[in-house]
Amino acid sequence: MRFATSPDDVLARLAALREHDAPTHGGHVLSYVYDSGEPELDELAGAAVRAMQPVNGLDPTTFGSVAALERDLIAFTRDLLGGDEDAAGPVVGTVTSGGTESCLLAVKTARDAWLAARGLAPGAARPRLVAPVTVHAAFQKAAHYFGLALDLVPVQPGGAVAADDVAARLEDADDVALVVVSAPSYPHAALDPVAEVAAHAAQRGVPVHVDACIGGMALPFWPGLPAWDLRVPGVTSLSVDLHKYGYAPKGVSVLLQRGRDRQRGQYFATTRWPGYPVVNPTLLGSRSGGPLAAAWAITQALGREGFATLAERSRHATDALRDAVGRVEGLRVVGEPVGPLLAVATDDAVAPERRVDPHLWADAATARGWVIQAQPAFPQADGTVLPHTTHLTVTPVTARVLDDLVPALTAAADEVRGASRPDAGALLEQLAGSGVPLDGPPDSATAAGILGGLGLDASRIGDEGPGVGPMAPLLAAIEALPAPLAERLLVELLARLAEPRG
Ligand SMILES: *Cc1c(COP(=O)(O)O)cnc(C)c1O
Repeated sequence: MRFATSPDDVLARLAALREHDAPTHGGHVLSYVYDSGEPELDELAGAAVRAMQPVNGLDPTTFGSVAALERDLIAFTRDLLGGDEDAAGPVVGTVTSGGTESCLLAVKTARDAWLAARGLAPGAARPRLVAPVTVHAAFQKAAHYFGLALDLVPVQPGGAVAADDVAARLEDADDVALVVVSAPSYPHAALDPVAEVAAHAAQRGVPVHVDACIGGMALPFWPGLPAWDLRVPGVTSLSVDLHKYGYAPKGVSVLLQRGRDRQRGQYFATTRWPGYPVVNPTLLGSRSGGPLAAAWAITQALGREGFATLAERSRHATDALRDAVGRVEGLRVVGEPVGPLLAVATDDAVAPERRVDPHLWADAATARGWVIQAQPAFPQADGTVLPHTTHLTVTPVTARVLDDLVPALTAAADEVRGASRPDAGALLEQLAGSGVPLDGPPDSATAAGILGGLGLDASRIGDEGPGVGPMAPLLAAIEALPAPLAERLLVELLARLAEPRG
């Protein structure tokens, strides 16, 4: 074979591109990546991916290994998450490509069950999906894709929803296809009142999904929690990501559902085309066996004990960070976080000149080599506003870098104490003056122009290093702009990033 470029050169180019990425190991990025701190596990995962590389998970009858690995992985997660058989039947499951796909399928299954129970065709009605505002955005996507009305319940200042507030939305429950609660929520690590909500929902015959995408592999080892998993009566499905605290490479999550008949509604099958008979448990057709094999290998190698040990390290690091943030004048931890993550906001109890803005803090931490994630303020339907925060996802490796991380976070706070976040008012004025209509999404060229005004030129992002630059001004702009406009700008930025250059 004559190659256009030699494989060695191709790999060298890849290595050069990877050099500009944020570091995936060593605990310097406190979101996106979940580093067990155990290189042997990464080696094992890599070898497992390699072994499954040519396999197509589309057909587990042709590739029996796929079915065997799925069975083991579903058994492992089901045992961990309390999935015993009850009157509604056994807990069964599917391996999906990630948390979003698990959440989408949970919603699709519930919608189809709701329609079938009423003899309705898809599109004939728009059932409700009830969830706290803190529910992962994947459920907004699910409601959008599958035609449900999203009924979001405001949460309390600490980020947890009151069970009574959810119950109030179920008083007239005939149009509710699904209630979703989180264990815990991504924005603030709040553990929703699963048992109370499930009790209300069960009384009214409404299914309940527990989104344990981020917490599912860690909370089983967290002490002192109320029941939150499939042990809770009324919980009908649960999602858990293996590519988070399962330490597998991206592309693997499990959706567990209670009852065979309920779960069968998740599948798509057709014999009505001239090709092979199709039956897909998930959204995809051809499926990689790689991430599945990696997750399987890691669960086999670690066992429950291994996950407990790693969770203990994350817990130690989370507690230490919580204490450290608590000691920083001008910052506070939001609510009562549960699991290996937390959110940090300004402490308004101190004098304005002693306050620390969490986004300026995040930018100062990033400048010191520690990437933490800015989250916007969120106005709720009841008139209250959830403050803007910074999110930290803590992993086992964090425990090893605390001696560098804590002083860096403290110094970053000292650096920005008393400074106020950028004001987006000037941006709004400039936009108003430019004649850009703010009431509808702009076209591609206009959007690119606005982005340029914000200093975001997609043709340069990612070449020099990770990120788009300081997050404080961008988040301030996102908060100030009408959501459809802000969303359109983000679409434009990402779309232009994938456009071939020159
Ligand atoms: C990560 C996450 C999701 C979505 O998962 P992806 O794997 O990013 O698609 C859903 N819910 C929660 C709570 C999460 O943390």
